[in-house]
Amino acid sequence: MKLKDIGEFGLIEKIAEITKTTPSVIKGIGDDCAVLKYTKDKYLLVTTDMIIEDIHFRLNNATHQQIGHKAIAVNISDIAACGGIGKWAVVSIGLPKDMNLDFVNKIYFSIRKLASKFNIDIVGGDTNLSKRIVISIVIIGEVSKKNLVLRNGAKIGDTIFITGKLTPQAKDLSFIPRIKASSFLVNNFKINSMIDISDGLLSDLGHIISESRAGACLYQSLIPYQGVSIKRALSSGEQFELLFTADRSKTRRLVSLAGKKRIKITAIGEITDTKGKIIFIDKSGKKEILKPKGYRHF
Ligand code: ADP
Ligand code: MG
Repeated sequence: MKLKDIGEFGLIEKIAEITKTTPSVIKGIGDDCAVLKYTKDKYLLVTTDMIIEDIHFRLNNATHQQIGHKAIAVNISDIAACGGIGKWAVVSIGLPKDMNLDFVNKIYFSIRKLASKFNIDIVGGDTNLSKRIVISIVIIGEVSKKNLVLRNGAKIGDTIFITGKLTPQAKDLSFIPRIKASSFLVNNFKINSMIDISDGLLSDLGHIISESRAGACLYQSLIPYQGVSIKRALSSGEQFELLFTADRSKTRRLVSLAGKKRIKITAIGEITDTKGKIIFIDKSGKKEILKPKGYRHF
């Protein structure tokens, strides 16, 4: 069997079957971060993501700032999705032999710049020869036990929210990970489930409903998107907004309190009992069942 036949998620499931963890692991494979035992009040969060030349960016239309920024931002975004903050980073790079030293320095400066903005120390890494630029970053962070949010806690009747706006055409190499929004949310509300939109809203909502054994309903008239068709907005990856759910009784207070802190949050639908299905209601009120599709590597 080829990888393209089982897909990225099929492969991850196979890997998860092979790995077995000890009780120090609160959550292993299957969420935005691994969650590990740490102190009395806190868990350690660990996440890693890799960006590769010609897959995630092209040298002829990305600057060194954008490459470095994106490499670390995607990781900080996963920490935000679990309700925590980043603390330490390990940065591994693969580079072609003929690469200009100045270019590498500049990539590193931009990694460091975003790391410092979020008080993350770069504490190590690895350097290798590679045909194309590869940057793989591990971030270790922490979260108060009471603030941990996973993908599996959505409850039927919850309101579904997103931060910001879906703007797929921007293919944003300079987005700011939503740590501020995440900290605001987990410190002020009981957030039942959360994920960052890396594969596309439908696909990532698909993870929340399958992990939570529920379904979802989305209203086109509520979804903030720009520049493309609604279907594209829902299935385009690399948006890095947070998608989360909380009890519906909190909806108005959550949106208005966030607004006062200049954090844009919009209620876009609800968690339903239509197990595994996302029901989409368009502007004219027509219902359609959508497949949780989005970006897959293979
Ligand atoms: P995200 O988009 O939030 O970064 P991914 O889709 O990359 O999440 O990964 C989903 C889950 O699968 C995560 O828990 C991640 O740690 C795990 N995972 C992905 N690739 C591997 C791998 N090669 N080995 C072990 N776990 C993996
Ligand atoms: Mg994620």
